Amino acid sequence: MYAERSQLEMYAMGMATVDDNKKINLHSSDQPYEHIDEAIKMEELVSNYLSSEEGESLMDYLDAKGKDKINIREYGSGDLGENVVAAVLHDGIEGVILSNYNGKPFTERISEMAEMYGLSDEATTEYVLAHEFAHAAGYKSEAETENVIKEYFQEMAAGSEGGIKEKYESLAKVAEGRSENASANYN
Ligand SMILES: [Zn+2]
Repeated sequence: MYAERSQLEMYAMGMATVDDNKKINLHSSDQPYEHIDEAIKMEELVSNYLSSEEGESLMDYLDAKGKDKINIREYGSGDLGENVVAAVLHDGIEGVILSNYNGKPFTERISEMAEMYGLSDEATTEYVLAHEFAHAAGYKSEAETENVIKEYFQEMAAGSEGGIKEKYESLAKVAEGRSENASANYN
């Protein structure tokens, strides 16, 4: 807990997070309304994802791999820089999952990324959340993170049909491409 806090102070960036009790915490923000608004949306998005079939199957998949997990205590939004969509900020034990605000809402960043990869906004959101939860599950480098979600999307594609199969095939291809040149990508 204290380590997490000192880590957050170290970053000294503007952000808001929502904890388990739905309490909002604001850190060094010069745009508190925007950060709080984005943090609430992120918490809702993640909660909905985690209780969905998609989120449950991802977490089961990652749990079965048995890596050292980060304990994600809060979700929120912060100023993560120009080309970042989302990130896990952690000290190796505990952390937070943040959407990037930095003057541009998360949904706009998702739409831009969706356009870049020819995906729907919804599929892109699933991609970004899977990526961040893979980091939280203990995958550190971008290459290994993209690789594990590629395998997960391939498994999902193999077990589904029609539009859902196509979605997971597309997501697996995006992850494969990103694992091959994993350095310039977002966190
Ligand atoms: Zn990453």
